[in-house]
Amino acid sequence: MIVTIVGTGYVGLVTGACLASHGHTVRCVEVSEERLRSIAAGKVPFYEPGLEDLLRAGQASGRFSVTADLSGAMQASDVSLIAVGTPARGEDPDLSYLETAARQIGGQLRACAGYHTVVVKSTVVPGTTRNLVCQTLEGASGLKPGEFGLSMNPEFLREGSAVRDFMEPDRIVIGQADSRSGDVVEALYGGFHCEKLRVSLEEAELTKYASNALLSVLISFSNELASLCEATPGTDVETVLGCLYLDRRLSPDGPEARIHPEILSYLRAGIGFGGSCLPKDVNALRVYGKRCGVATPMLDAVVTTNALRPAQVVGMAEAALGGVFQKTIALLGLAFKAGTDDLRSSPALSILQALGSRGARVRAYDPCVTPEAAKKAGLNGLCRESLESALSNADAVVVTTADPAFRDADWTRLTAQMRTPVVIDGRNVLRHVRLPEMARYYPIGCGGAIH
Ligand code: NAD
Repeated sequence: MIVTIVGTGYVGLVTGACLASHGHTVRCVEVSEERLRSIAAGKVPFYEPGLEDLLRAGQASGRFSVTADLSGAMQASDVSLIAVGTPARGEDPDLSYLETAARQIGGQLRACAGYHTVVVKSTVVPGTTRNLVCQTLEGASGLKPGEFGLSMNPEFLREGSAVRDFMEPDRIVIGQADSRSGDVVEALYGGFHCEKLRVSLEEAELTKYASNALLSVLISFSNELASLCEATPGTDVETVLGCLYLDRRLSPDGPEARIHPEILSYLRAGIGFGGSCLPKDVNALRVYGKRCGVATPMLDAVVTTNALRPAQVVGMAEAALGGVFQKTIALLGLAFKAGTDDLRSSPALSILQALGSRGARVRAYDPCVTPEAAKKAGLNGLCRESLESALSNADAVVVTTADPAFRDADWTRLTAQMRTPVVIDGRNVLRHVRLPEMARYYPIGCGGAIH
């Protein structure tokens, strides 16, 4: 098939490179000149393992290209995927990129040689595809529904493992305006072997929110449990959750040993969830509920619990140091999780801001975030190039992502370089690391230092 993809962020570029590797001819369209130049030169403009090789292979085979010219990209194309951002704007999701993309695609629909299907991959609340997208396409093309195909196909990839997630999907959800549209999308994924569910447009839209909302519930549940453990002498959230995992309903028996489903990795205490999806999607679902007259007290509580977490970690630093004013604190991790350089709504940035506002001198190191990327995000001069330089003469270190490099570091050497060896572990990644005697180690979810 000839596939046009509008938007080359995590979703658009991963989808494009993966579909090209499945034999489709993919033409990506991007408005950002900087991003376009980078991709055309075979360079992925963000950190995503395995994507650059796939992109270059697609370019070498002639099956992947990127352009600013939508009309050229849609010539003789069978299907257009919309993968533009839907960021939060105040309470509501900002649908302006989506609307623009739909208008631009609509303007080209008549010029497409045959029946053309438009697929929304961006995350949108129920009704957006049928109303905003469909009406915009109709208005711009003068075509009636049925004269073009329409589908909503939510994306479940995770940053950091996006290529694997896309190439080995657990399910493909195909929201269809009619069965002809669904057939086109099913054919697009013909080479992918997993269950393909044909559902309504609204069910497809809601499925994505349901999936992210569930993850946020598990994270906030674990974090609330961590706070309760922090207030209960003699308890440790790792032990309590460890006992919980062994419930056979969570870890069923396998042929040889217990199966530990990946979902358990969300039942972990930490510094709260962030990133470009979970916070905005949970919020969008709450606002959607409000509009429908449906209260969402559970999601409201998830957000409240999540918002408390960074301040609790800052409180640990204050208690450990007797105040953070004019103290030098190293943050290990800036992105919202390990394995990505995405700084959007990162809880590490909330910690950084809170420490800064209390007069601490903060510096940071994140193996995935280059100093240039940090500078672009307004974090100029704060990034260090190594663990050593971040920790040198620091009064405390706060671990904010579970990057394996932090667990595997030589902590005897690192803490020896610190002014005071105070280690606050916001992800409990150093629990099994042997720290020197003199280090004061404060894991989350457990009252007081444990070394
Ligand atoms: P992103 O912001 O990283 O990328 C969007 C890209 O679209 C940008 O490069 C932007 O310049 C481009 N763009 C915007 N309007 C355009 C237009 N009219 N023509 C051409 N290019 C245009 O976004 P993302 O993280 O890839 O997310 C895209 C959507 O997918 C969002 O709705 C998001 O919620 C959803 N999603 C994201 C992830 C994730 O992990 N990032 C996972 C699943 C779903």
